Amino acid sequence: MSIYQICSRCVMDTTDTLISFDERQVCDHCNTFDKLTVPNWDTGTRGQTQLTGLVSTIKRQGQGNDFDCIIGMSGGIDSSYLTYIAKEKMGLRPLVFHVDAGWNSQIAVNNIERLIDGLGLDLFTEVIDWQEMRDLQLAFFKSGVPHIDAPQDHAFFATMYKFATQHNVKYILTGANLSTECIRNPVEWMYYQSDSRQLLDIHRQFGTRPLKTFPVTSILWHKVWLPYFKGIRVVKPLNMVPYIKEEAKQLLIDRFGWQPYAQKHFESRFTKFYESYWLPKRFGYDVRRVQYSSLIVTGQMTRDEALELLKKPSYDESMIGQEIEFVSNKLGISVKELNSYMALPRKTYKDYKNQRQLYDYGARVMRAMGMEIGGKR
Ligand SMILES: [Zn+2]
Repeated sequence: MSIYQICSRCVMDTTDTLISFDERQVCDHCNTFDKLTVPNWDTGTRGQTQLTGLVSTIKRQGQGNDFDCIIGMSGGIDSSYLTYIAKEKMGLRPLVFHVDAGWNSQIAVNNIERLIDGLGLDLFTEVIDWQEMRDLQLAFFKSGVPHIDAPQDHAFFATMYKFATQHNVKYILTGANLSTECIRNPVEWMYYQSDSRQLLDIHRQFGTRPLKTFPVTSILWHKVWLPYFKGIRVVKPLNMVPYIKEEAKQLLIDRFGWQPYAQKHFESRFTKFYESYWLPKRFGYDVRRVQYSSLIVTGQMTRDEALELLKKPSYDESMIGQEIEFVSNKLGISVKELNSYMALPRKTYKDYKNQRQLYDYGARVMRAMGMEIGGKR
């Protein structure tokens, strides 16, 4: 029986079973942040120089094309703010790219529309075949693993990489950032969603129909082939500018009539159900710990505020019945069937084929070359 412990600086605790603490009871996430992230992350002069360089390269390479980069847009705060920065601060001509996996909330749809209209940009929406999406999501429920949101995430990225390849776009801008995500979900909680070996093995065992159009990527294709052989780069401009979540939110509200969400990633109704209810209830993993801890170490929230918020569950107790019904209906199963998956034996990514070693190796190389800051563990 292990003893419960919580970090004295952030709110990560032993629900992350690989967490370790130093003599001041500070966790390894905080120590990694101090040692590896802080020295390599500058949104002042150095970030500005980096950004200026990036802008001129993107513009040069995009000359003659209808647009010079693509931005993956979910309607959430990170991608919304990024879109604003790309157009207004970087002066780019982005094509805004949205992948509709069937779970958009109404707020997300409104937010995307408001940003696009307000900034005068073009939107391209790719719709994932719903029958295949549903089949994959059900396969993940049946597999018993915690990372059942992998099909959505996988589809988002794979579709974007495919589009960039087909249209010869060299730059993909993502809203991934250190300001709100410097502490990452442990691999144990949320295994790499881009691992196609895992995705396909789970589908092979639990799927009921072939994946004919579902977009599949693989780590070697998007981390090696695309950047080094095709020159297609994924960049994170939000790490080069000051990005304060509350200020960004206010700007989006004032300027575009953007609507905030109760919690990060709630733009997808599936992710909302999964992160606020399914994951904490079935596995005890509360992603708010990770999100709040990122805000704490970057000075955007106090530890006391986080602890206060964590006292309440992240789902709305008066609405959760309806939420469960919505998800069941959408997936075409009964509430009883959905609940039966809650009671399955708990599995991990290790119970299925996976490329974990390749991810670990890749992360080591990227960190050694200074191309990735922080990272998952
Ligand atoms: Zn900590």
